[in-house]
Amino acid sequence: MKLLAEIDKVVATGKVVASADDEAVADIVIATITSGISASFYLTRAQAAVIKERFWTPERIRRTGLRPISPEETERIRVELGVRVANFRCAPITCACGHVYDAFDFIQQGIREHGLDVVNSVFSLKDSTFLQVNPSFTPICPVDDQKLIRTHGADDGFEYDCDEYGGCCYQE
Ligand SMILES: [Zn+2]
Repeated sequence: MKLLAEIDKVVATGKVVASADDEAVADIVIATITSGISASFYLTRAQAAVIKERFWTPERIRRTGLRPISPEETERIRVELGVRVANFRCAPITCACGHVYDAFDFIQQGIREHGLDVVNSVFSLKDSTFLQVNPSFTPICPVDDQKLIRTHGADDGFEYDCDEYGGCCYQE
């Protein structure tokens, strides 16, 4: 069977493929977020939608400061970095130097660490969304190279979300 052969190939790379109904998948992902374990999930859009609905409550959005980036910043990311994002939302962090670390800085740092091709391929997945849970990522201010700490929670990291990308979720 073709699907099993594909799964066999994926598992051969050391990854796991799991199957459950969407609510159960959401339970697993939410439990992973809460546990603090770092993991990446490739989810269907429907599964990602269920998780985002449950994770990004209005209260959490208010507390984290997650907000949509401006059309100008979206355009600057496309023109200067060569990455197309849609409805990108993130929680900016203000550095002690006054610089506001925002979506542009985050995507620029992602390109520096992983390369433009990797960043673009994540944003252009057709049927799946890539969700990072508790990733170890330290935002670095591009002005003075300071490591930035999220304003809520004691951990570092950068919270974001967008339509074609599952985004990232942290334990609180
Ligand atoms: Zn700075």
